[in-house]
Amino acid sequence: MIAVPRDGLYGTRRGATVWLTGLPSAGKTTIAEALADRLRREGCRIEILDGDKFRASINASLGFSREDRDTHVRRVGWAAQVLARNGFLAVVPVIAPYADSRAAVREQHKTREVPYLEIHVAAPVDVCAARDVKGLYARQAAGEISGLTGVDDPYEPPRDPDLRLESGHRTVEECVAALYDLLMQRRLI
Ligand code: ADP
Repeated sequence: MIAVPRDGLYGTRRGATVWLTGLPSAGKTTIAEALADRLRREGCRIEILDGDKFRASINASLGFSREDRDTHVRRVGWAAQVLARNGFLAVVPVIAPYADSRAAVREQHKTREVPYLEIHVAAPVDVCAARDVKGLYARQAAGEISGLTGVDDPYEPPRDPDLRLESGHRTVEECVAALYDLLMQRRLI
């Protein structure tokens, strides 16, 4: 019997995009990084597409209007799709507040027959505001910024995500384990 390596024979295992949508401080980045740590140790090719890095580089001209948020999500989605099409697990911890933007990214993937999973990282806004990893909730409350997703800007929760992680009352380890199990079930790792 031939032993097939983790990445598939000749590294041909199909990639996928795993989009982690949710409010600021819900836990998207933490879960993405913990998943990536585990999967890299297991030999998977995985890349995290960080929304802030896009906004600091190729999306630097975009702001936070509905239109710009949509463009941001579609561009990140396009990059994820290219990586996934080439065998990477592209993990995207990006808020993506609008259902139609997320649907467009799903469609980009479907057209090219690239697997796509939508994961709702679903901590309630009061938990997110208490965590306030980047100080955004405090700045919004102080009137220094406006248009904060989930507070004074819309967040449309996914109606039918592939997985919902209750990151407000589950541990990081539990959330990562649930996501890992889903990827196994779908034969994506
Ligand atoms: P986001 O990327 O969604 O803005 P972060 O991952 O940067 O959020 O921050 C989430 C914070 O919540 C981190 O400090 C993390 O340690 C904490 N946290 C507590 N429980 C969880 C959980 N189950 N999943 C993810 N993060 C959690």
